Amino acid sequence: MSRVLVGVPTAPGAGVGPVVRFDGRPVDAAPQVVVAADLSPADVASFAGAVPTALATVAGAPLSHAAILARSLGIPVVTGLGPELLAVPPGTTVLVDGDAGTVRVTPTSEEVEAAHARQLAARRAGDKARRLGAAPALTRDGRLVLVVANVGSADDAGRAVSEGADGVGMLRTEFAFLNRARPPSEQEQYLAYRSVADVIGARPLVVRTLDLGADVPAWDLDPEPNPALGNRGIRLALARPDLLRTQLQALARLAEVRPIDVMFPMVTTVDELRLAKAAVPLRARVGITVEVPAAALTAERFAPIVDFFAIGTNDLTQYTLAADRGNAAVAALADGLHPAVLRLIAEVTAAGRRHARPVCVVGELACDPLAIPVLLGLGVTSLSVRPNAVAAVKQVVRTVSMDDARTLAAAAVDEESATSVRALVAHARAAAWPR
Ligand code: PEP
Ligand code: MG
Repeated sequence: MSRVLVGVPTAPGAGVGPVVRFDGRPVDAAPQVVVAADLSPADVASFAGAVPTALATVAGAPLSHAAILARSLGIPVVTGLGPELLAVPPGTTVLVDGDAGTVRVTPTSEEVEAAHARQLAARRAGDKARRLGAAPALTRDGRLVLVVANVGSADDAGRAVSEGADGVGMLRTEFAFLNRARPPSEQEQYLAYRSVADVIGARPLVVRTLDLGADVPAWDLDPEPNPALGNRGIRLALARPDLLRTQLQALARLAEVRPIDVMFPMVTTVDELRLAKAAVPLRARVGITVEVPAAALTAERFAPIVDFFAIGTNDLTQYTLAADRGNAAVAALADGLHPAVLRLIAEVTAAGRRHARPVCVVGELACDPLAIPVLLGLGVTSLSVRPNAVAAVKQVVRTVSMDDARTLAAAAVDEESATSVRALVAHARAAAWPR
């Protein structure tokens, strides 16, 4: 038996290879497991050209932006492995199991074969889902659920289209500009957004304005002691009108060429939204990403001045449960199926229903097979997920009956914990929704 380090399952799949220590430079294309104390979103973005077999980190957690990027690149990841990880000498063969959250040091050939067999089975299941990907996702009782994609680049958008995405539900504009010394010009931004639009053709496109700050580095901006509660998202945009105006001007140009939706991140107050909307008039539908509990609880006040809501469950979970999304020590607590988070989502869908505003979930929760029936039952109208999850999410939607989902959601908000919600859904699915 090989020695096993236990961390937090972060990105699915398994990878075997020799350990290389990340030293800040892009890795080469040879199969290898990149090991680091922690990784920033910019580090992971630098792997896009030569994708490592797997990643393993001392710190980190599944909802960090670095982890989100790794999942969309299809890299298996385990985070939160602790300092023991750095005691594994470079060159040692390890098996990273992103589903179990383990790293096996010098695995046996049986363990490696078992991992390969699992990977093959997962690939076959993915191929099967992909064959149905382009078809619309209709629930068992015929409700159409748009399954759109979260993308950061034209490459991502291409992958999303080939997986069957019905459009782009969130273009994360800050990702296109990582690893830069200076903010991009209006022309650079226009071309970046235009390249995504060109790839997706006539499908819907929702662009999220810059969500810099917290774990996404921001050029010349001063570091903050507690950046997750600091000047990020729309707060930063309003504090730096030069950044906001440049981006909105680029988006205004795109809106002349094709219909777009624009949403503002990290909105807390109605005044913030009014100010942002006034900065540059746009021929676009405008919405907010609901990720601060205050915005969820006052959704009724936002509804008359937005065209749509998106719910960012990654941050909404972090702020509701007071659990840092980048900290492995509280990763188990940061579960968006906690009834407190579900109640906030219900506030938004209720306001959406009353004012005929669609509600999309754009956080990682939308990829979770146990969460999907609950979200639909709460009244969420579309799901925006990473490109490589689109086909699988559509498959799950097709197993859901809306009546059952509504009953399940009503029970879930009265549960006592995310664990009990998960047990409730698993039981209901096993009993009533055989695949
Ligand atoms: C979210 O918070 O759920 C979200 C989609 O935004 P991000 O993950 O980029 O913070
Ligand atoms: Mg967010």
